[in-house]
Amino acid sequence: MLKNKIALITGASRGIGEAIAIEFAKNNADVIINYYNDQEEAQKVVDKVKKYGVESMAVKADVSNFNEVKQMVEEIQKKFKRVDILVNNAGIVKDRTLKNITLEEWHAVINTNLNGVFYVTKVVLPLIGEGGRIINISSIVGQYGNFGQCNYAAAKAGIIGFTKSLAKELGKKKITVNAIAPGFVKTGITKNIPFLRKKIINYMTPLKEGAEPKDIANLVTFLASEKSRYITGSVINIDGGLAF
Ligand code: NAP
Repeated sequence: MLKNKIALITGASRGIGEAIAIEFAKNNADVIINYYNDQEEAQKVVDKVKKYGVESMAVKADVSNFNEVKQMVEEIQKKFKRVDILVNNAGIVKDRTLKNITLEEWHAVINTNLNGVFYVTKVVLPLIGEGGRIINISSIVGQYGNFGQCNYAAAKAGIIGFTKSLAKELGKKKITVNAIAPGFVKTGITKNIPFLRKKIINYMTPLKEGAEPKDIANLVTFLASEKSRYITGSVINIDGGLAF
């Protein structure tokens, strides 16, 4: 579905980002893997992606650092010239109730999860031509809130407003901008949720289990493809029915 497309995925060294990278490669896209800390894991993803006969490279940048983002995009421009699909996926959690949260924990999450989306999109946008795709990974927490996640919820809600506004700005160029809102996905970011809490989440989920990263990747692949050409400014929930 993505032949001759060039995709940049932020935070693709593991979890949902890795699954998207592999699904894109299976669909014949060249895939640029952004990471921050884990070069070894990012390189492993590049090797997996290349097995599908497409181009790939890993590029290090902290998405919350505008200068690092600019350097990353210069590197990408030198090798690939353009970007057709941008997936803003990099994200972190620093969970704490508002009573106990530190300024550092608040700013870390806002800077990575929200400012990071702005920085990367701002710098990559000149490389995205007609028919391009921007897909932002929000969360149902941005719509419904969650205990101990004021920072994360604010960032993920911010992504939704950002997505809808940018969709209005870029429609005339036929560039679509959408967000997806996953519920519980089995990745590193959720591994520290206590066993009992996970059981409760599964019980409350009509489909009775968390998502596999591949489930999320399948939706993102559809949104990245020509098949989604008439969808823009949307937030698509993918949560096994947990929130509706
Ligand atoms: P994950 O397994 O913890 O992976 C996070 C990825 O983000 C890693 O590749 C990490 O790279 C990268 N990253 C973190 N900080 C970064 C930064 N400052 N700059 C660049 N990359 C950075 O998490 P995940 O579950 O796959 O989450 C991916 C996205 O889905 C996040 O935006 C998350 O909020 C969202 N989401 C997840 C769930 C869920 O249940 N898992 C639900 C809803 C939404 P390094 O390892 O190299 O640092």
